Amino acid sequence: MQTILMPGVMDFNSLPKVELHLHLDCSLSYPAAARLRPGLSLEQYRRDFVAPARCQSLAHYLEAPRRMVALLQSPAALTLAVEDVLAQLAQDRVIYAELRFAPLLHLEGGMSPEMVVGTVVEALQSATPRNGVEARLLLCTLRHFSAEQSLATLRLAQQFHGPVAGLDIAGDEAGFSLDPHVEAFVEAARLGIPATAHAGEAAGAASLRETWRRLRPRRIGHGVRCEEDTALVEELNAAQLHLEMCPTSNVQTRACGEFADHPLPRLLAAGLSVGINTDGRAISDTELHREYTQLCRHFGWGVREFLACNLHAIHASFAPARVKQSVAARLRAAWTAVQL
Ligand SMILES: [Zn+2]
Repeated sequence: MQTILMPGVMDFNSLPKVELHLHLDCSLSYPAAARLRPGLSLEQYRRDFVAPARCQSLAHYLEAPRRMVALLQSPAALTLAVEDVLAQLAQDRVIYAELRFAPLLHLEGGMSPEMVVGTVVEALQSATPRNGVEARLLLCTLRHFSAEQSLATLRLAQQFHGPVAGLDIAGDEAGFSLDPHVEAFVEAARLGIPATAHAGEAAGAASLRETWRRLRPRRIGHGVRCEEDTALVEELNAAQLHLEMCPTSNVQTRACGEFADHPLPRLLAAGLSVGINTDGRAISDTELHREYTQLCRHFGWGVREFLACNLHAIHASFAPARVKQSVAARLRAAWTAVQL
């Protein structure tokens, strides 16, 4: 039986969850950051690495990850970051996660791209059994990258395919075109490497539609602004294209107004495949169980909604079928046993 915190609010801390949208370089905890920058005070950490509750824009929000990436320029630092986030996931009772990062942002200390990905893969494979979290990696290219950089990121995804489950594009959606990146995503689809893509966050429904049409992703990161176009929502529903939604982050970047305005409940009720994610645990100063608590408080969500989102997420994950089945069975068993 689960602990009841207050009438109608469950103890989400102890219930199994799936998280598909989580940036490794946005999730460094204060103790881990202080190991990488000795003397760092909690006040400095909060000022430099936690984005304001309401940023001016996505570009403003992205200043904090830039500072965190600067700390992650050696194999030891990357290993620490992986161990740190895996411990956070275990604490948050995440049983399946896909962790993303942009390998080409970690070359300033002299590592090669292969060494960056190899280090993260090795750290993940060592940390996952200790933490009981099944996890895979997604490699990100970035909107401001060149076509060559996107193709290089795809080649890394191909080289490390297995622990690396897929490809993503992140960064400043409103400021940069998709043009340089189309070739890498079309090639990924040809190679059978699944992709997700950030869209419909800093730019509106037209950007989401363009990203879906040109990059052919199996999922969309955020997609929070899809409601601007009702025909698009119907198409997303018909295609069951999964939306990796990150409510607190969406409020921070002004992709939506207040938490209570978030479209998640409306999209779930309309039948879309949607999941709940943190985006960046440090940058957004959140954890998955805190997102669940907010959804419960604002929208009265309970077992039915949370189980549905988790099942949507594991179904849309890039895991092999046997992992999907086993995680889905564990989710069903735990969530349907909740006593309210
Ligand atoms: Zn993201």
